Amino acid sequence: MGNKPTGSGLALYAKTVHCPFCEYEFATMKVRSRMAAPYAIDSDFCPHYREGTTNPNYYYVNVCPECGFAFTEEFTKEISLEARAQIKLRIGARWEKRDFGQMRDELQAIESFKLAIFAATLKKEKHTLLGGLCLRLAWIYRDAHNNDEEERFLLLAVKEMEEAYVQSDFVGTAVSEMQVLYLAAELHRRLGNYQEAVNYFSKVTEHPNRNNERRILILAREQWALAMETFRKKK
Ligand SMILES: [Zn+2]
Repeated sequence: MGNKPTGSGLALYAKTVHCPFCEYEFATMKVRSRMAAPYAIDSDFCPHYREGTTNPNYYYVNVCPECGFAFTEEFTKEISLEARAQIKLRIGARWEKRDFGQMRDELQAIESFKLAIFAATLKKEKHTLLGGLCLRLAWIYRDAHNNDEEERFLLLAVKEMEEAYVQSDFVGTAVSEMQVLYLAAELHRRLGNYQEAVNYFSKVTEHPNRNNERRILILAREQWALAMETFRKKK
């Protein structure tokens, strides 16, 4: 541990997780929540941490070292027979054993998300979950000042959020309909699609649940105003 940066080492602990695909048990690092207080949070909920602090997002995905299946706590445990065949063929058969269970750098964090997005797609996880993975990956690129890749994954995230709304597949997840609509709006705004953004912001501010989710309502009003202002300036 001697050559690891102080602070980061203290924040991490090993957690044992169970691979839902091959049943293998392995240890992976997680960040102690009390060691991970963001100093700022963006309008799409991207947290920012001080330099030298471990970013919990780097350890969000568990990657099974045995079979390559990558997953998060939000994944459902059941895998259909059809999905099993696909995962075996397209992940398991190509997997060269690697360990993501130690401290991760930015590249390993990025790779863990790409593996999870692929696994979630093959497993046919909910659009809400896929949208969340794409958004978290976009945040890593934002921290790295890689605008092209950030936009690429914001666009994928917004498509998933729109699909989540159309199919109401957020039901049974920790994400509410207002949050899905707000994210669709805010991600469109960030991508410069002001018309779509305004359309979704209005769905948030007129939502029947708006008085129970005041924080989202207030954010939607603020970001709507910002979208209108930017749009007018651009014309
Ligand atoms: Zn596995």
